[in-house]
Amino acid sequence: MPERLPGKGTGGGKTPTAVGTGGAASTVDQVATQAAIDVLRRGGNAVDAAVAAAAVLGVTEPFSCGIGGGGFMVIRTPKGKVTTIDGREKAPAAMHPKSFFEGDKALSFQDARWSGLSAGVPGTVRMWDEALDRYGTTSLRKALDPAIKVARKGFVVDQTFADQTAPNVDFFDDVPSTAKIYLDPDGTPLDVGSISRNPDMARTYQLIARHGTKAFYKGPIAKAMAKAAQKPPIAANANHRWRPGLMTERDIAAYKVARRAPTRIGYRGLDIWGMAPPSSGGSTVGEALNILEGYRPLGASRTQSLHRFIEASRYAFADRNAYLADPAYYDVPLKGLLSDSFAAERRALITDKAATSPVAPGDPRDDDNVPAPGAVTAGDQGESTTHLTVADKNGMVVSYTFTIESTGGNGIVVPGWGFLLNNELTDFNFDDPKHPNAPDGGKRPRSSMSPTIVTKNGKPFLAAGSPGGSTIITTVLQVLLERLDLGRSLPQAIASPRATQRNTATTLAEPEFLATEAPALRSLHGHTFGTTSEIGSVTGIELLGNGRFLAAAEPVRRGGGSAMVVRPERD
Ligand code: GLU
Repeated sequence: MPERLPGKGTGGGKTPTAVGTGGAASTVDQVATQAAIDVLRRGGNAVDAAVAAAAVLGVTEPFSCGIGGGGFMVIRTPKGKVTTIDGREKAPAAMHPKSFFEGDKALSFQDARWSGLSAGVPGTVRMWDEALDRYGTTSLRKALDPAIKVARKGFVVDQTFADQTAPNVDFFDDVPSTAKIYLDPDGTPLDVGSISRNPDMARTYQLIARHGTKAFYKGPIAKAMAKAAQKPPIAANANHRWRPGLMTERDIAAYKVARRAPTRIGYRGLDIWGMAPPSSGGSTVGEALNILEGYRPLGASRTQSLHRFIEASRYAFADRNAYLADPAYYDVPLKGLLSDSFAAERRALITDKAATSPVAPGDPRDDDNVPAPGAVTAGDQGESTTHLTVADKNGMVVSYTFTIESTGGNGIVVPGWGFLLNNELTDFNFDDPKHPNAPDGGKRPRSSMSPTIVTKNGKPFLAAGSPGGSTIITTVLQVLLERLDLGRSLPQAIASPRATQRNTATTLAEPEFLATEAPALRSLHGHTFGTTSEIGSVTGIELLGNGRFLAAAEPVRRGGGSAMVVRPERD
């Protein structure tokens, strides 16, 4: 019965803020948050709950994430260790720096995206397995259970889902396996209020539940993935050209997650833990915070504080665009980028007037070997991806961002298996074969995902993250500043209007920011702005002490998110 099915958005009791005890979860989706809370209530830990919620999101947020993609998880254990798992997609072995070139010209972003070529080997299934194996208390089999039910019974399509489908229709309808699940028979987006079921996805999850990760990385699913990438399964009357990809069954079988030390910086007595390369999240949020820590207070006024936020982002992005790539292929100067002395050099360039971008990268290696400023790439502009945050009563915290890159990934549902492939390889600087982040065989593309955990005297204090391509970095940074420096509560920090400066000529800002903050920034500090409707979609949790949690999600952006605690307090 439709009315008994979980509603994703549009009312249905979805709340963006919750306070209480026993554990907390925050995601973009009520069904997923509920799955996490159910796990916590039954005694599961934060990793168990995070994987259960992530698997549900693979069904209800299929254009943003899922087993066809990858991501990064930052975990704080009850004993106080902070660690990360890198489940980023990898390029097929046959990829090389000019794989996205035809003749001397690189493909456009659109041509690169809608192809088999953009699909990296997915990391999500191994990521879930590794997280559960090392830090969880439950099996992958149990963790997938709620998601299997949602895939089978379906969920109610909301406005956000329909809005995310609409711009993709012209490509989705080229691919029968995609159109079958995500379009109505007349080729339009599924109606708001209708039920979306995905029995193929349920079967895929079931196979993984029964046989473990090998069911995904070997055998029929792997075979179908490789085939879909190598020869996109398009209809005879498709009206676009879908270029063939390089991913083989061998690439898929060889995929491994990486365990990495988190990035860590100190900020005003707190420890900020983030994701190390190949993500540029931890290093760029960290560098900007190091720059800003030198201002005590951040600014004499809110406007001056925001001015410094924008300028610190600008310089940190100049460095990010030049120096960040997969550390297995490029010697990323991470230590230099996160050093206080480098931050001081960058801070010294900031004046009371907005700088003109592009500004040059700094010299974190101190070897006078400074590259030209890299650009924010086309793939950096994404608005896909999702972030979830879970904390349990024993002090375990999970901050997990995962993605299939663009909203709708590469547009190819693997025939018979119900999940979309990613287009993560467009996160490479695929038009610049000499760039540290150029494509290469087995390489992970640079990411901006910034799952973050903040601790205070070794105790968990805050966790948050966001989607939004490279705006993820400025979004996480801004939320931290709003909360830590500018006197806003976590829900207010999340709701605050946003701006993003990534070493681009103008600073992009949301309409409300343009109306409220931009006039003073223009007149007092000389900023120039461009407009963008929405930046990011944050979920986070603050640990209030005495076993109390404040879970928070977006009240409005992307239709609003869902925050819950195990035992809510009455107001
Ligand atoms: N692929 C992007 C990254 O890893 C995330 C995509 C998005 O948020 O739009 O940085």
